[in-house]
Amino acid sequence: MTAPRLDDYAAIVGSERIAVLRRLAHRIEGLRVAIVNSTRVGGGVAEMLARHVPLLSELGISARWEVLEGTPEFFEATKTIHNALQGSTRELTARMREAYVETNRRNAERLDLDADVVVVHDPQPAALVDFAPKTCPWIWRCHIDASRPQRAAWRFLAQHVERYDASVFSMASFAKNLAHPQYLIAPSIDPLAPKNRDMSDEEADRILARFGLDRSRPLVVQVSRFDRFKDPVGVIRAFRMARRRDDCRLALVGGTADDDPEGAQILREVHDAAEGDPDISVLGIPPDSDLEINAFQRAATVIVQKSTKEGFGLTVTEGLWKGRPVIGGAVGGITTQVFNHQTGFLVHSPEGLAYRLRFLLNRPALAEEMGARGRELVRHHFLLTRHLRDWLTLFLAVTGRGAP
Ligand code: UDP
Repeated sequence: MTAPRLDDYAAIVGSERIAVLRRLAHRIEGLRVAIVNSTRVGGGVAEMLARHVPLLSELGISARWEVLEGTPEFFEATKTIHNALQGSTRELTARMREAYVETNRRNAERLDLDADVVVVHDPQPAALVDFAPKTCPWIWRCHIDASRPQRAAWRFLAQHVERYDASVFSMASFAKNLAHPQYLIAPSIDPLAPKNRDMSDEEADRILARFGLDRSRPLVVQVSRFDRFKDPVGVIRAFRMARRRDDCRLALVGGTADDDPEGAQILREVHDAAEGDPDISVLGIPPDSDLEINAFQRAATVIVQKSTKEGFGLTVTEGLWKGRPVIGGAVGGITTQVFNHQTGFLVHSPEGLAYRLRFLLNRPALAEEMGARGRELVRHHFLLTRHLRDWLTLFLAVTGRGAP
């Protein structure tokens, strides 16, 4: 399949929105944008960049995607930073700090950062700004909820972040006390990507069957990395409470996390919690399982994302786009997508999740209505066309070309 082009999105969002993108882009035609993150595959950021870069190019922006290279020691350090920014108390050791800074220094020499605007995603490459010749506006794009970080970790990262000309956060409550301007841009999904494109029931059923599942009974689904902040064990507890009264099955779908020691530990805990229960399927999927995720989200009666911390929650967006109601933890970006009684429910505990699961399982017509509303919410606010418009507007602002 050839990659979708801008006009292909008109059928979903209307041609006026595409026209707006072209008008905005026209004012910065030829702008050279270097975009840096720390992986080309895996995770929401890489997924978004893989679509933004070609579409920005189609709009006449010369977008280049650069990827940081690091050692296992560096990624251990950045994982610790990531968790600490989300409040974990694990200390960032002197060695970790050194590995972090040194990797950034080496990458600043290796990467091509000559551009009119540089956009750096997340903490991993944030220190590049210390070592690269800084000849244009640099923007730091933070995807995580760093609103209540471990203070020492934020102090460490902030020395680098403060050198930027602007920061971008997903929500107002994530903004930090920084001297430069801060902007809000919510993430988005690509409605034409394999993970989100339309899929017939037959196709979804065929995929489900490979995992030994079908739609004969109500299905509750959480798609997530096996990570403590996603609380998969809490989902199992809630599911068990709900299933005492209502027939249903649970699928916890996620990567096998071979490269993540913490993930492997959580996966063990999940298997222990699910043990002996034929109604709970813990399904490991490889990283390129987009169609499988699409099928699971479509086959779900209710989608769950019971996170206890969440930057945004693309799985919530994906679920809503498939017209399914979502029950989510009342945290971070989930609260901008899930509205009680409208697109799903926000919950604070396994008990709350169990209650809302039963509520929706017993009200299929209402669940369908909420799902339909969720799809419209996503159409208006969380598709990549809106996201591109925000970036173009920000490029206009930081280059000063937005003024009449
Ligand atoms: N995802 C995936 N495989 C997995 C788990 C998640 O492809 O095993 C996808 C998921 O569909 C979503 C993204 O990865 O597109 C996760 O983004 P989210 O914001 O929900 O959470 P994060 O993992 O970034 O904390």
